[in-house]
Amino acid sequence: MKDIKDLSFDEWKAELVQIGQPAFRAGQIFDWIYKKGATRFEDMTNLGRDLQEKLGRAYIVGTLELFGVFRSKDRAEKYVFRLHDGPRIESVLIPAGGRATVCVSTQVGCKFACAFCASGRHGFVRHLAPSEIVGQVLFLRDHIDMALTNIVFMGMGEPFDNYENLVKAIVILNSPHGLGIAARRMTVSTAGIIPGIERFKKLGLQVNLSVSLHATSDAQRSALMPLNKKYPLGKLLAACENYLKEGGRKITLEYVLLKKVNDTAEDAFHLARIAARLKAKINLIPFSPVIGLPFEVPEEGRVLDFRRKLEDKGVPVTLRHSKGRDIQAACGQLALLERNPSDRLFRCAPK
Ligand code: SF4
Repeated sequence: MKDIKDLSFDEWKAELVQIGQPAFRAGQIFDWIYKKGATRFEDMTNLGRDLQEKLGRAYIVGTLELFGVFRSKDRAEKYVFRLHDGPRIESVLIPAGGRATVCVSTQVGCKFACAFCASGRHGFVRHLAPSEIVGQVLFLRDHIDMALTNIVFMGMGEPFDNYENLVKAIVILNSPHGLGIAARRMTVSTAGIIPGIERFKKLGLQVNLSVSLHATSDAQRSALMPLNKKYPLGKLLAACENYLKEGGRKITLEYVLLKKVNDTAEDAFHLARIAARLKAKINLIPFSPVIGLPFEVPEEGRVLDFRRKLEDKGVPVTLRHSKGRDIQAACGQLALLERNPSDRLFRCAPK
């Protein structure tokens, strides 16, 4: 059966007309799903019994099954969901300074095997459907005590490797008939899929773009991010420049700091030059330990020194300490765990 949450509003309207229903029903049904949180046609009381039954025979309103919630001392919360066919994905809620950002997954696993990332360690399983991407946001909206303000597509998976479903999800999240979340409050984070950056610009959406750089030379970047062999730094930076020239919003560069790997004075010098060229802001993220990975967390002094070197060159920098270290919040880690790993795992009672 088809999941209505896989369809944009226009697609759903066309589908309803095709089965002989007036177009205004599309608005009523989206209203039930996205504004009132209904998941059963029999609860959509203004549809009439016949239509409820007809829809129930052909469609579902899919929901995600919660596997568990990990709550961190620093208020980050990690939600692990079990998909209908078994694999798990995760979303992270990050409350900070009056904002509540949710970081959502776009794939189960990932093809790109970045050396510092948990998601890439066990390979790729499958793409998430639009309903499964949107479903993460919907679940959090309905189960937390604060309003979601921002969405980042930065969880498990590479968003541009699941381009069509990502864009469909963004359209649904953005639509006034869907969740009505402003495009400027959404950010897509890519490891550097150049065709994705080019297509994304042509869409003309006001969604923010962030590019995971993590290294400033091809040799270093290819060692950390094998994807760089296919989309080398020079071409990636040129694609970012074109993106900006064609009217794309400012780019943020993500840079995970790995002790004595990419946090030297020389790295800071080259990173500052790249940021200046792209007029980009840099998000510095001190590495969050991942079980079984050989990287170390840089000391606070080293991190602050790196930041100062960038700021001295006039580069805007945000230092984003990884939230939720005590719940292993680095992307992909919880979804890989086979069983409840500790008493920090709670079954979530609906609020
Ligand atoms: S950092 Fe992103 S692209 Fe790289 S392996 Fe992890 S999820 Fe995939």
